Amino acid sequence: MILGCHVQMKAPDYVEGSVKEAIAYGANALMLYTGAPQNTRRNPVEKLRIEQAKQLMEENGMKMEHLIVHAPYIINPANSVKPEVAELAKEFLESELQRTAAIGASYLVLHPGSYTTTDLETGIRTIIQRLNSVQDYPQGVKICLETMAGKGTEVGFRFEQIAQIMAGVDNPEHFGVCLDTCHISDAGYDVTDFDGVLDEFERIIGLEHLHVIHLNDSKNERGARKDRHANLGMGTIGFEALHAVASNRRCEHIAKILETPYIGKKPPYKYEIEMLRSGIYNREILEKMANENG
Ligand code: FE
Ligand code: FE
Ligand code: ZN
Repeated sequence: MILGCHVQMKAPDYVEGSVKEAIAYGANALMLYTGAPQNTRRNPVEKLRIEQAKQLMEENGMKMEHLIVHAPYIINPANSVKPEVAELAKEFLESELQRTAAIGASYLVLHPGSYTTTDLETGIRTIIQRLNSVQDYPQGVKICLETMAGKGTEVGFRFEQIAQIMAGVDNPEHFGVCLDTCHISDAGYDVTDFDGVLDEFERIIGLEHLHVIHLNDSKNERGARKDRHANLGMGTIGFEALHAVASNRRCEHIAKILETPYIGKKPPYKYEIEMLRSGIYNREILEKMANENG
C-alpha cells in the first residue's frame, strides 16, 4: 500500500525533514506545501535540502512520484473579478511549477478555485484561461486538479467540471487529477461503493489521469458540500470504506495521502497508517490521543 500524509516542510531540514517525518509515521509517500499554504512567501530551492531528501527516500525504498506537492489555497485561478488575484495566481503557479520540478516531484495538486460573484461556467472558462497563460510547464510535472466538495462557489465538485477544464487546456499532457474522498463524498458521490466511483471517473475523465488520492473521512453527510475532514472511522464514510479505497487494486500504484485533522495538536498519522496497513481499526487509540492531548 502506498500511504502517506501531509507533512511539514520547515527549517532547518526542509524537504529532508519532511521525508524524515513521513518515515517516522511508517509512510512510503508524503505531501508537502513549499511554504505556508495561506501565503506566497517561499524559500529559495537551494535551501531546501533536496539532494539529501532524495537520498533518504531512495534508502527507504520510496519513489519520487510519491512525493506530492500541494499548491497554496490562496491561489484562485477561477477568479475573474479581481485582476490582481488572477495575476497572482498565474505568477505563483509559474514559480510553484518550477519549485516542484526542482524538488523532483511529478505532481502539483491544485484546487480549481472559486468563481465568487460570477457563475460556474465563467469560473471554468477563467481557470482554463489562467492555466493557458502559464508560460512554462516544466518537463515531467503535472498539475493535478483536485476534486472539490462544492463549498460556496467552488469549481470542480463534479467529474464533468474537471473533465471540462482538462479538455480546454492547451497542453493536456501536463494535467491530471487528485481525488479527495472527503470532498467527493461531500459533493454527493458514494465512497462506500468506490468501484462505482472509479467506474464513473473512468467514464467521465479516464482512470489514467488519476495520480493522487487524498484519503480523509468526512464530518458531514454525503452531499452536504461542506468540506470538513475527519479522522479515519470518525466520520460518515467510515474506516471500512476508506480501507477499501486504500486497498483497491485499480489504484494500487497511486499514493494515498492522509489530510486528517491533528488530535489535540498531535498528528494521528502513525496510527491511521498502521490501521490501514493491518486492516484493523483501533478507535481506542485515537480516543486515547484525544483524551491525553485535550
Ligand atoms: Fe487540497
Ligand atoms: Fe484534499
Ligand atoms: Zn478538504
